[in-house]
Amino acid sequence: MFRPVRGMKDLYGTDIRKYNYIINKAVQIGEKYGYSIINTPILEYTDVFVRAIGDETDIVSKEMYTFLDKGGESITLRPEGTAGIMRAIVTESMTQSLPVKLMYYGEMFRYDRPQKGRYRQFHQLGCEHVGDKSPYTDAITIALAVEILNSIGIFDFKVLINTLGDTKTREDYTKGLVKYLSRHEGDLSEDSKRRLVKNPLRILDSKDKKDREICLMSPVITDYLSKESLTYFEKVCSLLSKFGVNYEVNNFLVRGLDYYTHTTFEFKPVSGEYREALGGGGRYDNLLSAFKGADVSGIGFAIGIERLMLLLEDNKFLPVSKKVAVIPVSENENDTSFDLLKTLYSCEIEAEFLHMGTITKKLKVANRLQCKLALIVGETEFKNGTVTVKFMNQEDSSLKTKLITRDDVVNFIKCNL
Ligand code: AMP
Repeated sequence: MFRPVRGMKDLYGTDIRKYNYIINKAVQIGEKYGYSIINTPILEYTDVFVRAIGDETDIVSKEMYTFLDKGGESITLRPEGTAGIMRAIVTESMTQSLPVKLMYYGEMFRYDRPQKGRYRQFHQLGCEHVGDKSPYTDAITIALAVEILNSIGIFDFKVLINTLGDTKTREDYTKGLVKYLSRHEGDLSEDSKRRLVKNPLRILDSKDKKDREICLMSPVITDYLSKESLTYFEKVCSLLSKFGVNYEVNNFLVRGLDYYTHTTFEFKPVSGEYREALGGGGRYDNLLSAFKGADVSGIGFAIGIERLMLLLEDNKFLPVSKKVAVIPVSENENDTSFDLLKTLYSCEIEAEFLHMGTITKKLKVANRLQCKLALIVGETEFKNGTVTVKFMNQEDSSLKTKLITRDDVVNFIKCNL
């Protein structure tokens, strides 16, 4: 039996309606905030991700779909959107006209352990604002993400926020963290032992139970913040309050990617069954320069579309049909019915041509397709230039059918749908 690749699924029916709804809302809000859409390739040279995300992150060290193409180049299916966008900003010379605000959505791939809300092919939507560094921009970006979630009907989440400070803060904090964690080295997971040397901040992100216990008592970044970084963070917080965004400071929020500096944030459901992060992001100071672009700062976020879909109720996404079924009773009426179908389409009326099987079968299909009206053309109708209109799912039998002339069909449908 064929089946989709593990952790990947077909999106159709209710799911695809939810997906389209989410994207439409997000794009609408993004445009209000001045973002334009960018669609980067799903494949990039592997180095694009290694450079941006960092080779000690879970994504790069374990989760990327990487292969050699036929030319022997190492290629990777994008695991996230930011790196490709930074590459595009440089290769498309957008650095000439910074700041730039770009919004994206589409498939991402991570070789993760599939479970509810976690897939190997999933979808993200995200925004990147590059070439503008100020607490105002940070606050506006977080407010944008919150407005996107709210516009989709998602209110039950909290905004967690933290700062990683500037490069000096990160360096000082990393030293303090290593000093503390080294005392517990024997109890750390193998991954964390390795990261103690290569990338200690990542240990705060560990999902290992013992690692997490050890981290609970670790030093916090706020104790190491330079005066400027602290002022920056306090300003972001006060602007968020001014904007009406409720937030909670969480000093352990470092997020899984290497590129963050200063503000980081995440959106987490507060009640209900599903509590994993809906999305998150942060500021990055050195990302564009990693691609030999200008040394400018940016801020962005990504939201997981499948996670939002989990929170939307299926029954609000049932198909809304305004469809009409065109039904010839026998083959003799096929051509006349076909002409009728053409007239309906030219008048922008949704219609189905049901010509297979018995009349009972055709009406059954019309029901399944949720057609509101069936236009039945039999021998008499054919001769008289009329159509029998059947109101589908009509309880009152006196209202079930009506004979009208063909010339009146379009008007009749427009008045009755
Ligand atoms: P990240 O790029 O890791 O910061 O993830 C941002 C958001 O993307 C997360 O909060 C999730 O909503 C979503 N996400 C990340 N990984 C997956 C996955 N494997 N499956 C589904 N959604 C994901």
